[in-house]
Amino acid sequence: MATTAQASQASKPIVSANGGGSPPNPFEIAQRQLDEAAAVLKLDPAIHELLRWPIRELHVTLPVKMDDGTTKIFHGFRVQYNDARGPTKGGIRFHPQETIDTVRALAAWMTWKTAVVDIPLGGGKGGIVCNPKEMSNGELERLSRAYIRQVGRILGLEKDVPAPDVYTTPQIMAWMADEFSFLKGYNEFGVITGKPLALGGSAGRNDATARGGIFTLREAAKVLNFPIKGAPMAVQGFGNAGQYAALLGEELLGCKLVAASDSRGGVYNPAGIDPHALIQHKEKTGSVIGYPGTKEISNEELLELDVPVLIPAALENVITAGNAGRIKARIVAELANGPTTPEADKILHERGVYVIPDFLCNAGGVTVSYFEMVQNAYDYYWDVEMVHERLDKKMTAAFHTVHQAAQQHGVHNRLAAYLVAVSRVAEAVQLRGWV
Ligand code: GLU
Repeated sequence: MATTAQASQASKPIVSANGGGSPPNPFEIAQRQLDEAAAVLKLDPAIHELLRWPIRELHVTLPVKMDDGTTKIFHGFRVQYNDARGPTKGGIRFHPQETIDTVRALAAWMTWKTAVVDIPLGGGKGGIVCNPKEMSNGELERLSRAYIRQVGRILGLEKDVPAPDVYTTPQIMAWMADEFSFLKGYNEFGVITGKPLALGGSAGRNDATARGGIFTLREAAKVLNFPIKGAPMAVQGFGNAGQYAALLGEELLGCKLVAASDSRGGVYNPAGIDPHALIQHKEKTGSVIGYPGTKEISNEELLELDVPVLIPAALENVITAGNAGRIKARIVAELANGPTTPEADKILHERGVYVIPDFLCNAGGVTVSYFEMVQNAYDYYWDVEMVHERLDKKMTAAFHTVHQAAQQHGVHNRLAAYLVAVSRVAEAVQLRGWV
């Protein structure tokens, strides 16, 4: 285990995005987005520099006994980006391509996310480089517990509260909460959110990311005067967020799912696809591919379909300068973190595509995580209707604050969301006397 100070990194220039054909560096993108907002806000240079870097990060090396008797060494991270407004908050990803820079970017975006929905939390993120699809339940449990044994020392109700993210589940949160409780010597389930209901989870947490995104889509349709009922919708990424977006898009707004994809590819039927049946098909076969009555398409083709509502719900950097000119959607609701590069943002804005930016659109997850923390703290639990009502209120208010900022400053929605979030974090930094 080793702590890494930022100072050494700060002096090194970060490799430029796409330099030599390598994929864009998400942390460089996050810093560029902040730089743009700082210029518009005429942010104090010291506050700007502070907000360009994580406050603290921990790198861990985890030996895990595998089912075949061997021991495998895994690498993991926890980044606490900024806690000026409250304890750091953000999920843990299990992914074979995880990197420290991805986790840094995601932790920065969590900072802006908690600020834009105005909940009293900072931003953090964790990650383990692993392929959960190739691991047994026992191996995943041992890996999850090993991570908490190392990272647990910087976690806590008042310090840093993790949650699920890509390829992590309520069961994984339960193992982590259990391990942390043993470290402490008493049950402290509130250290993690997205837990199963039986261990202090919140009603409505499982579909919260998608539900919050669908609320912002509803509001976007209102301000654009766009007829959302019956509108065809394509969902890129069919995990937790994508599946619930398909279900709730239909249930709450009357949208029609016409395409969906996962890491193996996509399916398309302009006449419509029943989201319930597609979820069952994916559960049975492991992919959306081969769903009866659909045409097979690639992830790239899905993004460029002639559909008014496009929901990227997978990973970073899928809408780039390379394809932004061919996106035909009227509204892009970003349930994924970081799906659009800064170059693509400009192109989409010029072409009149209305983007609901990631850290606004997908803030429903952390908002209900915050509700979970509140319920854990007073050990009294709300019914699902109350969760939905309070989530709607938060998401709707945040949407209109960002929409108005975009109108007022004449900027695209992502920059507007940054202006709102960064000024709130900067205010806290200043009030605390850090700068
Ligand atoms: N991983 C989710 C996100 O990216 C949720 C984080 C949380 O609930 O803390 O927003």
